[in-house]
Amino acid sequence: MNGHASFNQVFFTNAEIAPEFIVGEPGEGWKIATTTLMHERRGADGLRRAAMASKRPERCYAEEAEEIAHQLEPYKWYPQRMGRVDLVMQRARETGKIDDPAVRQEIARLLTLAKTAEWTALRSRAAQAQGRPQGPEGSLGKLAASVVARKANQVHTMISGADAMLTGEDSPMGGVIAEILVSTPAISIAGGTDEIQRNIISERILKLPKEPRTDADRPFREVPRNVVT
Ligand SMILES: Cc1cc2nc3c(=O)[nH]c(=O)nc-3n(C[C@H](O)[C@H](O)[C@H](O)COP(=O)(O)OP(=O)(O)OC[C@H]3O[C@@H](n4cnc5c(N)ncnc54)[C@H](O)[C@@H]3O)c2cc1C
Repeated sequence: MNGHASFNQVFFTNAEIAPEFIVGEPGEGWKIATTTLMHERRGADGLRRAAMASKRPERCYAEEAEEIAHQLEPYKWYPQRMGRVDLVMQRARETGKIDDPAVRQEIARLLTLAKTAEWTALRSRAAQAQGRPQGPEGSLGKLAASVVARKANQVHTMISGADAMLTGEDSPMGGVIAEILVSTPAISIAGGTDEIQRNIISERILKLPKEPRTDADRPFREVPRNVVT
Protein backbone atom coordinates (compact mmCIF):
# COMPACT_ATOMS: atom_id res chain seq x y z
CA MET A 1 0.00 0.00 0.00
CA ASN A 2 2.83 2.42 0.81
CA GLY A 3 5.79 0.70 -0.80
CA HIS A 4 7.24 -0.52 2.50
CA ALA A 5 7.45 -4.17 3.50
CA SER A 6 7.01 -4.31 7.26
CA PHE A 7 5.77 -7.84 7.74
CA ASN A 8 7.80 -10.66 9.15
CA GLN A 9 6.33 -14.07 9.81
CA VAL A 10 8.42 -16.88 11.25
CA PHE A 11 7.21 -20.46 11.71
CA PHE A 12 8.88 -23.01 13.96
CA THR A 13 7.79 -26.59 13.32
CA ASN A 14 8.80 -29.39 15.70
CA ALA A 15 11.36 -27.07 17.24
CA GLU A 16 13.42 -28.52 20.09
CA ILE A 17 15.58 -26.59 22.53
CA ALA A 18 17.89 -27.53 25.37
CA PRO A 19 16.31 -27.20 28.85
CA GLU A 20 18.67 -24.37 29.85
CA PHE A 21 17.23 -22.18 27.08
CA ILE A 22 13.62 -22.42 28.27
CA VAL A 23 12.22 -19.00 29.22
CA GLY A 24 10.01 -19.38 32.29
CA GLU A 25 8.54 -22.80 33.03
CA PRO A 26 7.09 -25.41 30.64
CA GLY A 27 3.40 -24.57 30.10
CA GLU A 28 3.97 -20.83 30.61
CA GLY A 29 4.39 -20.10 26.92
CA TRP A 30 1.24 -18.00 26.63
CA LYS A 31 2.31 -15.82 29.56
CA ILE A 32 5.72 -15.24 27.91
CA ALA A 33 4.05 -14.56 24.54
CA THR A 34 1.64 -11.96 25.96
CA THR A 35 4.44 -10.26 27.91
CA THR A 36 6.45 -10.05 24.68
CA LEU A 37 3.43 -8.54 22.91
CA MET A 38 3.04 -5.98 25.70
CA HIS A 39 6.64 -4.89 25.04
CA GLU A 40 5.91 -4.56 21.32
CA ARG A 41 2.85 -2.44 22.11
CA ARG A 42 4.81 -0.20 24.39
CA GLY A 43 7.22 0.30 21.48
CA ALA A 44 4.24 1.50 19.44
CA ASP A 45 3.13 4.14 21.95
CA GLY A 46 4.52 6.96 19.84
CA LEU A 47 7.44 7.68 22.15
CA ARG A 48 10.28 7.01 19.75
CA ARG A 49 12.91 9.29 21.17
CA ALA A 50 14.55 10.31 17.90
CA ALA A 51 11.20 10.88 16.20
CA MET A 52 9.96 13.09 19.03
CA ALA A 53 13.16 15.13 19.20
CA SER A 54 13.70 15.69 15.51
CA LYS A 55 11.89 18.19 13.32
CA ARG A 56 13.33 16.97 10.04
CA PRO A 57 10.89 15.97 7.35
CA GLU A 58 12.95 13.13 5.84
CA ARG A 59 11.29 9.75 5.47
CA CYS A 60 13.52 8.08 8.02
CA TYR A 61 15.38 9.97 10.74
CA ALA A 62 19.15 9.62 10.61
CA GLU A 63 19.34 8.30 14.19
CA GLU A 64 16.68 5.70 13.47
CA ALA A 65 18.28 4.71 10.17
CA GLU A 66 21.53 4.03 11.97
CA GLU A 67 19.82 1.99 14.68
CA ILE A 68 17.83 0.02 12.11
CA ALA A 69 20.95 -0.66 10.06
CA HIS A 70 22.46 -2.43 13.03
CA GLN A 71 19.47 -4.07 14.66
CA LEU A 72 16.48 -4.48 12.41
CA GLU A 73 17.55 -4.85 8.78
CA PRO A 74 15.82 -5.58 6.44
CA TYR A 75 12.83 -4.14 8.39
CA LYS A 76 12.39 -0.42 7.73
CA TRP A 77 10.68 1.80 10.25
CA TYR A 78 8.87 4.72 8.63
CA PRO A 79 7.65 7.46 10.97
CA GLN A 80 4.81 8.34 8.55
CA ARG A 81 2.93 5.41 10.12
CA MET A 82 2.53 7.44 13.35
CA GLY A 83 0.96 10.38 11.47
CA ARG A 84 3.88 12.85 11.68
CA VAL A 85 2.29 15.25 14.15
CA ASP A 86 5.67 17.04 14.17
CA LEU A 87 5.09 18.25 10.57
CA VAL A 88 1.61 19.70 11.10
CA MET A 89 2.55 23.24 12.18
CA GLN A 90 5.20 23.51 9.45
CA ARG A 91 2.69 22.45 6.77
CA ALA A 92 -0.02 24.76 8.17
CA ARG A 93 2.38 27.73 7.92
CA GLU A 94 3.65 26.76 4.44
CA THR A 95 0.13 26.51 3.05
CA GLY A 96 -1.32 29.52 4.91
CA LYS A 97 -3.93 27.21 6.50
CA ILE A 98 -2.65 28.34 9.88
CA ASP A 99 -5.04 31.31 9.49
CA ASP A 100 -8.10 29.13 8.85
CA PRO A 101 -10.09 28.96 12.13
CA ALA A 102 -11.58 25.54 11.33
CA VAL A 103 -8.14 24.07 10.62
CA ARG A 104 -6.64 25.74 13.70
CA GLN A 105 -9.33 24.10 15.83
CA GLU A 106 -8.45 20.63 14.53
CA ILE A 107 -4.71 21.26 14.88
CA ALA A 108 -5.28 22.22 18.52
CA ARG A 109 -7.31 19.04 19.05
CA LEU A 110 -4.53 16.94 17.51
CA LEU A 111 -1.70 18.56 19.48
CA THR A 112 -3.67 18.13 22.73
CA LEU A 113 -4.32 14.46 21.98
CA ALA A 114 -0.67 13.86 21.08
CA LYS A 115 0.59 15.60 24.22
CA THR A 116 -1.71 13.70 26.59
CA ALA A 117 -0.80 10.40 24.87
CA GLU A 118 2.86 11.27 25.32
CA TRP A 119 2.38 11.93 29.06
CA THR A 120 0.48 8.64 29.51
CA ALA A 121 3.29 6.75 27.76
CA LEU A 122 5.88 8.56 29.89
CA ARG A 123 4.00 7.61 33.09
CA SER A 124 4.07 3.98 32.02
CA ARG A 125 7.80 4.12 31.24
CA ALA A 126 8.56 5.87 34.53
CA ALA A 127 6.81 3.03 36.40
CA GLN A 128 8.98 0.49 34.62
CA ALA A 129 12.12 2.49 35.30
CA GLN A 130 11.26 1.95 38.97
CA GLY A 131 11.26 -1.80 38.45
CA ARG A 132 7.63 -2.60 37.67
CA PRO A 133 7.23 -5.24 34.93
CA GLN A 134 5.64 -4.27 31.60
CA GLY A 135 1.88 -4.38 32.18
CA PRO A 136 -1.31 -3.97 30.16
CA GLU A 137 -0.91 -0.17 30.16
CA GLY A 138 1.14 -0.71 26.96
CA SER A 139 -2.30 -1.21 25.37
CA LEU A 140 -3.33 2.30 26.45
CA GLY A 141 -0.29 3.76 24.69
CA LYS A 142 -0.84 1.64 21.59
CA LEU A 143 -4.52 2.62 21.36
CA ALA A 144 -3.70 6.30 21.95
CA ALA A 145 -1.03 6.19 19.22
CA SER A 146 -3.67 4.79 16.87
CA VAL A 147 -6.12 7.61 17.67
CA VAL A 148 -3.39 10.24 17.25
CA ALA A 149 -2.26 8.77 13.90
CA ARG A 150 -5.81 8.76 12.54
CA LYS A 151 -6.38 12.34 13.68
CA ALA A 152 -3.03 13.44 12.19
CA ASN A 153 -4.04 11.84 8.90
CA GLN A 154 -7.27 13.88 8.94
CA VAL A 155 -5.50 17.15 9.85
CA HIS A 156 -2.81 16.69 7.18
CA THR A 157 -5.62 16.16 4.68
CA MET A 158 -7.40 19.34 5.83
CA ILE A 159 -4.15 21.30 5.46
CA SER A 160 -2.97 19.95 2.11
CA GLY A 161 -6.34 19.27 0.48
CA ALA A 162 -6.23 17.22 -2.72
CA ASP A 163 -2.45 17.88 -2.93
CA ALA A 164 -2.10 15.38 -0.08
CA MET A 165 -2.58 12.61 -2.66
CA LEU A 166 0.39 13.68 -4.78
CA THR A 167 3.72 11.90 -4.73
CA GLY A 168 7.05 12.76 -6.30
CA GLU A 169 9.67 15.40 -5.70
CA ASP A 170 7.46 18.44 -6.32
CA SER A 171 4.55 17.16 -4.21
CA PRO A 172 3.94 18.28 -0.59
CA MET A 173 7.09 17.45 1.37
CA GLY A 174 8.39 15.24 -1.44
CA GLY A 175 5.56 12.72 -1.07
CA VAL A 176 5.80 12.41 2.72
CA ILE A 177 2.23 13.71 3.19
CA ALA A 178 0.84 11.17 0.71
CA GLU A 179 2.80 8.48 2.49
CA ILE A 180 1.23 9.50 5.81
CA LEU A 181 -2.25 9.01 4.35
CA VAL A 182 -1.57 5.46 3.18
CA SER A 183 0.57 4.46 6.18
CA THR A 184 -1.51 5.46 9.22
CA PRO A 185 -4.14 2.69 8.79
CA ALA A 186 -1.38 0.20 9.69
CA ILE A 187 -1.04 1.46 13.24
CA SER A 188 -4.54 0.39 14.29
CA ILE A 189 -3.92 -3.17 13.00
CA ALA A 190 -0.27 -4.10 13.55
CA GLY A 191 0.75 -5.19 17.04
CA GLY A 192 -2.86 -6.06 17.87
CA THR A 193 -5.88 -4.18 16.60
CA ASP A 194 -7.68 -1.34 18.39
CA GLU A 195 -10.45 -3.77 19.35
CA ILE A 196 -7.96 -6.14 20.97
CA GLN A 197 -6.40 -3.25 22.93
CA ARG A 198 -9.87 -2.22 24.10
CA ASN A 199 -10.52 -5.79 25.30
CA ILE A 200 -7.23 -5.77 27.25
CA ILE A 201 -7.93 -2.36 28.77
CA SER A 202 -11.45 -3.32 29.80
CA GLU A 203 -10.50 -6.72 31.24
CA ARG A 204 -7.07 -6.14 32.76
CA ILE A 205 -7.07 -2.44 33.67
CA LEU A 206 -10.76 -1.63 34.31
CA LYS A 207 -11.43 -5.22 35.53
CA LEU A 208 -14.71 -5.44 33.62
CA PRO A 209 -16.13 -8.96 33.14
CA LYS A 210 -14.58 -10.98 30.32
CA GLU A 211 -16.55 -11.95 27.28
CA PRO A 212 -17.81 -15.54 27.64
CA ARG A 213 -15.28 -18.01 26.19
CA THR A 214 -15.73 -21.73 25.78
CA ASP A 215 -12.16 -22.51 24.69
CA ALA A 216 -9.98 -20.80 27.33
CA ASP A 217 -8.86 -24.09 28.90
CA ARG A 218 -8.28 -25.98 25.63
CA PRO A 219 -4.97 -26.24 23.74
CA PHE A 220 -5.03 -24.15 20.55
CA ARG A 221 -4.85 -27.28 18.35
CA GLU A 222 -8.23 -28.34 19.77
CA VAL A 223 -9.96 -24.98 19.36
CA PRO A 224 -12.62 -25.26 16.61
CA ARG A 225 -11.79 -23.01 13.67
CA ASN A 226 -12.31 -22.67 9.95
CA VAL A 227 -10.35 -25.16 7.90
CA VAL A 228 -8.64 -23.81 4.78
CA THR A 229 -8.89 -26.38 2.01
C1 LIG B 1 1.83 -2.82 8.69
C2 LIG B 1 1.64 -4.13 9.43
C3 LIG B 1 2.76 -4.80 9.85
C4 LIG B 1 2.62 -6.03 10.51
N1 LIG B 1 3.75 -6.66 10.87
C5 LIG B 1 3.67 -7.89 11.43
C6 LIG B 1 4.86 -8.64 11.76
O1 LIG B 1 5.99 -8.19 11.52
N2 LIG B 1 4.72 -9.86 12.31
C7 LIG B 1 3.48 -10.41 12.58
O2 LIG B 1 3.41 -11.52 13.10
N3 LIG B 1 2.35 -9.72 12.26
C8 LIG B 1 2.42 -8.49 11.70
N4 LIG B 1 1.26 -7.81 11.36
C9 LIG B 1 -0.01 -8.53 11.52
C10 LIG B 1 -0.83 -7.96 12.63
O3 LIG B 1 -0.26 -8.24 13.89
C11 LIG B 1 -2.22 -8.57 12.49
O4 LIG B 1 -2.71 -8.11 11.24
C12 LIG B 1 -3.14 -8.12 13.59
O5 LIG B 1 -2.73 -8.69 14.82
C13 LIG B 1 -4.59 -8.44 13.31
O6 LIG B 1 -4.77 -9.76 12.99
P1 LIG B 1 -5.59 -10.14 11.68
O7 LIG B 1 -5.12 -9.27 10.55
O8 LIG B 1 -5.51 -11.64 11.56
O9 LIG B 1 -7.07 -9.70 12.01
P2 LIG B 1 -8.18 -10.52 12.77
O10 LIG B 1 -7.63 -11.06 14.06
O11 LIG B 1 -8.79 -11.50 11.79
O12 LIG B 1 -9.21 -9.36 13.09
C14 LIG B 1 -10.19 -8.89 12.16
C15 LIG B 1 -11.08 -7.92 12.86
O13 LIG B 1 -11.74 -8.55 13.96
C16 LIG B 1 -11.43 -7.89 15.18
N5 LIG B 1 -11.20 -8.86 16.27
C17 LIG B 1 -10.44 -9.99 16.22
N6 LIG B 1 -10.47 -10.65 17.41
C18 LIG B 1 -11.24 -9.89 18.23
C19 LIG B 1 -11.62 -10.04 19.59
N7 LIG B 1 -11.25 -11.08 20.33
N8 LIG B 1 -12.39 -9.05 20.12
C20 LIG B 1 -12.81 -7.99 19.37
N9 LIG B 1 -12.49 -7.82 18.06
C21 LIG B 1 -11.70 -8.75 17.50
C22 LIG B 1 -10.15 -7.13 14.91
O14 LIG B 1 -10.03 -6.00 15.74
C23 LIG B 1 -10.32 -6.72 13.45
O15 LIG B 1 -11.09 -5.55 13.33
C24 LIG B 1 1.34 -6.58 10.75
C25 LIG B 1 0.20 -5.88 10.32
C26 LIG B 1 0.33 -4.66 9.68
C27 LIG B 1 -0.91 -3.93 9.23
